[in-house]
Amino acid sequence: MRSLPRDWPRAFAHVDADCFYVSCELIRRPELRGRPVAVMSSQDACVVAKSYDAKARGIATGMPVWEAEKRLPGLVLLPADFRFYGLMSARMFAVLARFSPEIERYSIDEGFLDMEGLRGLFRCDYRTLADRMRRAVREELGITVSIGISVNKLLAKMASEANKPDGSTVVPGRRVAEFLAGRSCGDIPGIGARRAALLRKFGVHTARQLADVGFAQVRRLLGKFGVDIWRELNGEQVFALDMGEALPKSMARTASLGCRTRARRLVEGHLSYHVFRLAMDMTSRGLRARRLRVMLRLGNFERVYADVPLPRASSSYPQLSRAAIRGLDELWPPEREVGACGVIAMSLARANQAQGTLFADDGEETRMLPLWESIARINRKYGRRTVQPAASAVVPERTGRQPRFRYPVIEGRAGYASETYSTSKQVLMAACSIVFRS
Ligand SMILES: [Mg+2]
Repeated sequence: MRSLPRDWPRAFAHVDADCFYVSCELIRRPELRGRPVAVMSSQDACVVAKSYDAKARGIATGMPVWEAEKRLPGLVLLPADFRFYGLMSARMFAVLARFSPEIERYSIDEGFLDMEGLRGLFRCDYRTLADRMRRAVREELGITVSIGISVNKLLAKMASEANKPDGSTVVPGRRVAEFLAGRSCGDIPGIGARRAALLRKFGVHTARQLADVGFAQVRRLLGKFGVDIWRELNGEQVFALDMGEALPKSMARTASLGCRTRARRLVEGHLSYHVFRLAMDMTSRGLRARRLRVMLRLGNFERVYADVPLPRASSSYPQLSRAAIRGLDELWPPEREVGACGVIAMSLARANQAQGTLFADDGEETRMLPLWESIARINRKYGRRTVQPAASAVVPERTGRQPRFRYPVIEGRAGYASETYSTSKQVLMAACSIVFRS
């Protein structure tokens, strides 16, 4: 791979607390230091965190508690206290904010910092800065963190993992190739075991070898997300720091039908309308859901729900529609007439950032995104029903400002049957260009 001409075209730090939940617990239970400790999930069902010595003795995250107890009889099992971990997390980020104002909270115990310009401000090099950050967290909170600093987010994250616990790893541009030679493809965030196995078949074992593969082959083997990773391995900066507001827990679109009915077609039409609005809002806000909940309110005001997991985090209308139909299938026929319905997007993630999607491949959805963004823009500008699924036409227009155009363009029995998708795509494209021209 070509080495970077400069050591610090940009500089990012990745800070990752070591065994965060366990470390938090040890602060208030110092008598447990030196013993193998694990923290259990909220229902005390499985292990969600473990100390290094528990890990060395075979305890793994996700392991059922009974199995952990059997495997390691002296293991101290503690109930989780997420409120306390949240407070500790806030304190950790407050310490880090004294070093750089530009911080992305990547998870409860991990963050990225933009380090550009800090050497001049603190009058020291990046290694000294990393050591000072580690010391500040350790002295003020009593927990340790590992820090990686490099030219982009991906390399910084790999660097922080290279020297755990309580280590600093600094990888300047001219040392990237050397650093990657010592890391396997499985060490690259976003390259899971399956992709690492695929790469091995093509003789690509180390991260450096992946960086050396040509653009066309990376694209063929790993798709667009692989190209982004490959560019970051080569020292470019692709993934931006995301300092946005906190993620909402869920987003809901529900409303009364204005009547009570057992007509499935009518309920589907209303659901289609809610799904469409939800998809537009999520697209505009750059959010995706991993789960969709369908809600029906029955004549006696009882609510019934069906949860549908999505194959991957999505904000795409066709994807969410299919999930809504599956949810409705589960709830149909209802015991009484339906008076209201709606959809709730759950387990939200940011489109460009959340763990598991930051580097994930979602080809079709990525290709279609500009279309949905255009429709969202059209509806923001000309009224939210300017372009809408045909099935939603059953939902009566509310009074107020009338839209200037209306294109009920998605055809099909329920308005979102997958087999009509490719043709409706073309019609939507046409609709967008008409609106943009007028
Ligand atoms: Mg951690």
